[in-house]
Amino acid sequence: MDVARVRQDFPILEREVHGKPLVYLDNAATSQTPLAVIEAFDDYYRRINANIHRGLHTLADEATAAYEGSREIVRDFLNAAETREIIFTRGTTEALNLVAQSWGRANLGPGDEVLISNLEHHSNIVPWQLLAAERGFIIKVIPVDERGVLDMDAYRDLLGERTRLVAVNHVSNALGTINPVQEMARLAHEHGALILIDGAQAAPHLEIDVQAIGADFYAFSGHKVYGPTGVGVLYGRADLLEAMPPWQGGGEMIATVSFDVPTTFAAIPHKFEAGTPAVAEVIALGCAIRWIHEIGLKHISAWEERLLEHATEGVSNIEGLRILGTSPDKAGVLSFVVEGAHSQDIGLLIDQLGVAIRTGHHCAQPLLHRFGVEATCRASFAAYNTPEEVDIFVEALQRVIGMLR
Ligand SMILES: *Cc1c(COP(=O)(O)O)cnc(C)c1O
Repeated sequence: MDVARVRQDFPILEREVHGKPLVYLDNAATSQTPLAVIEAFDDYYRRINANIHRGLHTLADEATAAYEGSREIVRDFLNAAETREIIFTRGTTEALNLVAQSWGRANLGPGDEVLISNLEHHSNIVPWQLLAAERGFIIKVIPVDERGVLDMDAYRDLLGERTRLVAVNHVSNALGTINPVQEMARLAHEHGALILIDGAQAAPHLEIDVQAIGADFYAFSGHKVYGPTGVGVLYGRADLLEAMPPWQGGGEMIATVSFDVPTTFAAIPHKFEAGTPAVAEVIALGCAIRWIHEIGLKHISAWEERLLEHATEGVSNIEGLRILGTSPDKAGVLSFVVEGAHSQDIGLLIDQLGVAIRTGHHCAQPLLHRFGVEATCRASFAAYNTPEEVDIFVEALQRVIGMLR
């Protein structure tokens, strides 16, 4: 992979922060956008802006074709069987809430159990808590070991005939742990349960095949795969989506509306896309995925693995630094705490040196509590990061820790 060439696609990487060249290592929160994506917005609003699926005029046709073209690009990206299994949402959070509010509300009640893991992002915890308070089902939590690896024996023990759904992330945003989702899906299905996979951190790093995994639902966000904010994806198996009730009502999702006879709904995926969607964002997401294909996800993940190794090595010499998340299967995330230096202070001071990392609970408070901490520092890598940037980060970190101690 020619990283210099990759970097040319990202104008934001040329900017400075506090008079220093930007070193952007907060990719697990949001990745930067290549020119192809930025230009997609410009082109859309200059040439084809129109509402989709409604008009018969040329612009409406072109906008609809581009929007539906993105659906096919996403289908291919996930290797879903059919384009109607791809639903556009505002992001992973909305996709997970859609499953909870539609499938969950229709299928979960007292005595039922939903298994989530200790690794989950709040967006795969809270929607289930909200619904459980209303529907009276039970949430059980799959524990993790000291490395941040899911305890598969505990998972097997937790699975039972009351388990209706397993909801887990593919890759942990706080630790980088890659979960064995294919094996987890097989075990869930053996017990008659469905599996929902939060792929927000997997989609930028791993080749995903929802059919090979055996995923019933799979969610990811545009802004973490070099695409824009405001758009995400829910993949759902067609037979499941067809049986699920709508979760939001409005335009686009109906077949006929009447005051006299029951209103009827559109076929999937439109049944789940009420109202005018984020047309430009969906089209731009298609461009982002095309960009990923051009570079090659295999090359990207191999490159990120090198960066992670280099960074892990670099920080391992720092006295009092403890890495959280030491799974042998790990994606480009380096989470750590430092004795005698608050994460927040490290984040603020290292920003003064031009380095952007994340500090805080990473929307995974139950996980951090498991490790006895309230916050960590997290550096996370993308295709455009370089070993030189990792060196700058490690040096800056050493300087900042020296100032704080
Ligand atoms: C970022 C993230 C989410 C939430 O995604 P949004 O884009 O904020 O909706 C959910 N799960 C994981 C693992 C994430 O990293």
